[in-house]
Amino acid sequence: MADLPPRTRGVIALLEANCTVCMICARECPDWCIHIDSHTEVEQQPGSARPRARNVLDRFAIDYGQCLYCGICVEACPFDALHWAPDFSYPGTGGPDGDGAVAELVQERDVLATWVAHVPPPPPLDAAAEPAPETTATRPGRPGTGTARRPGALREGT
Ligand code: SF4
Ligand code: SF4
Repeated sequence: MADLPPRTRGVIALLEANCTVCMICARECPDWCIHIDSHTEVEQQPGSARPRARNVLDRFAIDYGQCLYCGICVEACPFDALHWAPDFSYPGTGGPDGDGAVAELVQERDVLATWVAHVPPPPPLDAAAEPAPETTATRPGRPGTGTARRPGALREGT
């Protein structure tokens, strides 16, 4: 691992377990340098009336020869599957004359997955910061009830 500041935008690590193959990152990338292939599998869950379809990842690659390091994919992923890691260990040297160096900058999912180990933990919360609203907010009551309710909760006496 390179000796870089922990928040360096070095490479993008893929946490495969979080990836739902939603394709948002590939669509939002301004440079079209994320390549995703997938297929759909249909499963019958025990006790379920209908079979369920799920996307299975076949390929996830980032072309670092084109990447702008803008971070849009990391921000756009709704499942926290993409993270910056302070590394830059691309091969990218090609043959003796440099042939093939650009192609070597395409990093596949197995390499992207190894960079997950280099992702730094999130910074600690600022002790002076206000608590997050979702940790302190009380649920609003329905008009006329005067009390907070879960959606769909039965009213007293029904
Ligand atoms: S950092 Fe930007 S250019 Fe690079 S893969 Fe992500 S969205 Fe695309
Ligand atoms: S946005 Fe996230 S979950 Fe969706 S395909 Fe990209 S990495 Fe996977």
